[in-house]
Amino acid sequence: MTLKLSQDFHDPQIARHLAARITRISRKPVRFMEVCGTHTVSIFRSGIRSLLPETISLLSGPGCPVCVTAQKEIDAFIALAREPETIVATFGDLIRVPGSGSSLQREKAAGADVRIVYSTFDAVALARENPDKRVVFLGVGFETTAPTVAAAIISAHREKLDNFSVVSAHKTVPRALEALTDGEIDIDGFLLPGHVSVIIGLDAYRPFFDAHRVPCVVAGFEPSDLLHSIAMLVDQVEFHRPALENAYTRAVSAAGNPRAMAVMNAVFEVADADWRGIGAITASGLAIREEYAAFDAVKVFDIQLKPVPEPKGCACGEILTGMKTPPQCPLYKTVCSPMAPVGPCMVSSEGTCAAYYRYHGEE
Ligand code: SF4
Repeated sequence: MTLKLSQDFHDPQIARHLAARITRISRKPVRFMEVCGTHTVSIFRSGIRSLLPETISLLSGPGCPVCVTAQKEIDAFIALAREPETIVATFGDLIRVPGSGSSLQREKAAGADVRIVYSTFDAVALARENPDKRVVFLGVGFETTAPTVAAAIISAHREKLDNFSVVSAHKTVPRALEALTDGEIDIDGFLLPGHVSVIIGLDAYRPFFDAHRVPCVVAGFEPSDLLHSIAMLVDQVEFHRPALENAYTRAVSAAGNPRAMAVMNAVFEVADADWRGIGAITASGLAIREEYAAFDAVKVFDIQLKPVPEPKGCACGEILTGMKTPPQCPLYKTVCSPMAPVGPCMVSSEGTCAAYYRYHGEE
C-alpha cells in the first residue's frame, strides 16, 4: 500500500486495512522497539497496540531526551542553578526532573534564577539583556535540537557575547542502536525516529544496519505512518529480508539536511556520552569544539560530573532499554505519578511512564 496524501495518514479505513494486513502476515512472535518519544506518545494515544496481533510486542526505547539524561548531568544542572549571578535557561520538561537531592524547580522556588525558554535563541537574548549575569543553556536533546543549539552558539560568538554558554548533554541515536542490539533484550526490529532522521538522513543508519542486519524502518508520526512502518518490519521478518527502509519519505531523505548537519558539525564534535539506563556509549554524544570553548559551560563553570545512583526504586533504566514496562515498577502509580514523579520517564511528556499513566488504561 502506498500512502501519499496527508489525509491518508488519518484515514481510519486505511489504518484498519493496515492492521488487518499485519494480523494476516504476522506469524512469528517479535519485539519491535521505537526509539523516539513522539512515537511512544503517538502509539499510546492512537491505541495502536490494541490493534496489533499478540505476536507483536512494541517496546519503548531510549527516545525521550530528558529521560536518557544521566543522573549526574541532572545534578550538574542543579549545581549550576546555585551559582551566583547566573541564569539557567532550559526547556520546560527538564525543570521537574528530580536530581539526587533537589530539582531545578525546587532551586527556582528557593530563589535560583531558572528560566524556561522555548528556543536556544531566547537564552542568547537573555544573555544580551543581562550583561551582568552569566546565562547558561542546558543543551539536552538529540540530533533534532543540536543544530539550533549550534546556530545559537555561532550567533553568540559573532555578537561576542561573553556571558553565554551551553552545557552540551546532547546524544546521538545511531550508536545507541548498537548498544541496544548488544543488550540483554532481543530486538527484532527498530522503528527509527522521524524527527532525528529528517536531520541525519536514512544513510546515517547504514553502518549500524550493515553490521547487525536488524530490520529497520524510519517511521512518521500519524497512526497510519506507524502501522505502515510496522507492516514493513513484519514483512522483513516474515520473509527473512532484513532491510533499512524509509516509510517517512515525505520528510526524510537519504542524506538528511546537509545544512543543519554542517552547522551542527561546525560547533560540535563527536564524544562519548552517558545514557541513563545504558551507561557510557562510545561516540554517542556531542561536545563543543575547542574553537567555541568560551561557550562551553563545562569549561566556563569547571563542571565535574560525579557518578551518582539513580532514584531509589526507580526502574527508568530498565524501561529505557525495554527490559521492563512501567507497571512492572513497584513505584508506578503508588508513589510515582506525573504530579509527584520519581524518575524522568514520568516527568517528560514523551516519557514512557507518563505515556502509560495517561493512556494505558484507555487502551
Ligand atoms: Fe521511575 Fe516512576 Fe517510571 Fe517507576 S514509574 S520507572 S519510579 S519514573
